[in-house]
Formats: sequence, C-alpha cells, structure tokens
Amino acid sequence: MDYVNIHTHKQGEGIYVLDISLGGNAAAGKLCSLGIHPMFVEQGVEIECLEEKAAAREIQAVGESGFDRNSGTDMEVQQRLFEKQVEISEKYTLPLIIHCVRAFPELIAVYKEKRPRQPWIIHGYDNNSDILARLLRHGFYISVGKKLVLPHSNIRQLLPLIPLEQLFIETDDSDLRIDTLYEEVAKLRGVSLDMLKERIYENFKKVFG
Ligand SMILES: [Zn+2]
Repeated sequence: MDYVNIHTHKQGEGIYVLDISLGGNAAAGKLCSLGIHPMFVEQGVEIECLEEKAAAREIQAVGESGFDRNSGTDMEVQQRLFEKQVEISEKYTLPLIIHCVRAFPELIAVYKEKRPRQPWIIHGYDNNSDILARLLRHGFYISVGKKLVLPHSNIRQLLPLIPLEQLFIETDDSDLRIDTLYEEVAKLRGVSLDMLKERIYENFKKVFG
C-alpha cells in the first residue's frame, strides 16, 4: 500500500499531489494542483489560465487557494478570487485544496453559500477545536503535516478528534518525509501503520476517483 501525500511542493515517491501554484509544471501521469495562493496573488496564475488548465485536465485539483489574513491582498479580493476557484472546482469536478489562516468564518460562509459538491481539503490545519468541529460537521477533509511534529502545536492535541475517514497527511513545503509523518500519526492515534495507510488510501480513492 502506497503512502499518499495530499499536498506537497516537491516531487516525491509514491502517490502525491504536487502543488504547482508557486512554480513548477504539471507533468503527464502525475497528480497536480494549481490555484491562486492568497499570500501570492500578484505572482499567481490568472484565473482564465487556471480555468483553461482545469478544462484541459492538466490539473487534478484546484488549490492551494483560500484566505490568509496576513496577506497584503484585501480580504474582499481574496474572497472574490476564492469564489471563482470554487466555481472552477465545481464545474470541472476537481477537489479543492485550501489554505486558510485566521479566516475560518469567511471560509465557512463561502462553503454555506456555495454548497459545493466537490471535496474540500483543509491543508496544514493547526487551529482550535471549535473550528475543527465545525469543519468536520460540514464534511471537510483535514490534512495534517509539519505542525504535527511540534510538541505544543494545536493539531498534535486535536488529532484524536479527526475521524480517519476525514483525514489526510501532507509534507507541504517541509523537508519531512511522508513516512515519518504517517508513523507519527499512527503513534498518536494508537493505530497500526498498515491500517492508517489503508484508511488514507481509501480517502484518496474517494476524492480522486
Ligand atoms: Zn503548500
């Protein structure tokens, strides 16, 4: 059973979704995601170009996109761009990979308004338990990664609250190995590595078909 790395900016082994939003190219036979990162709106891809690539099936997911309150781009502009990306995700039936920093109420408001049919995956979740509960209730997938290895991170404490059916694991831009993160999750959850790999692979199949 392969490891699944749901969000990474680096080429790797096994199954991984390579995010090319901050550079790099889609490659045939590889899973790629492309979106407008809220921290780098100016440098990012144009929405028309994103739609062309989605229509041509050059990408297999939209994102990372979403909200970041630390961004120099206005929240209203971020919201407009995010909504367009939600529309592309829905129109071309591509899952959405979400970057969200200090803007979960805004994100959930868009979710409620758009009522998307595509899976929404929150990458690098490290917020509090109330927000986590709301996200889980709405059926979001939660992807955990580099924060997990920090002893005092929120996600390290909250991991047991995430049902395995809604969990993904990612390396993002870190140098951590995906197998190391799986081992950490298995340990914190008290499940075997094999079982964890199986369950995450099931989630992957459900989301990516
Ligand atoms: Zn990333």
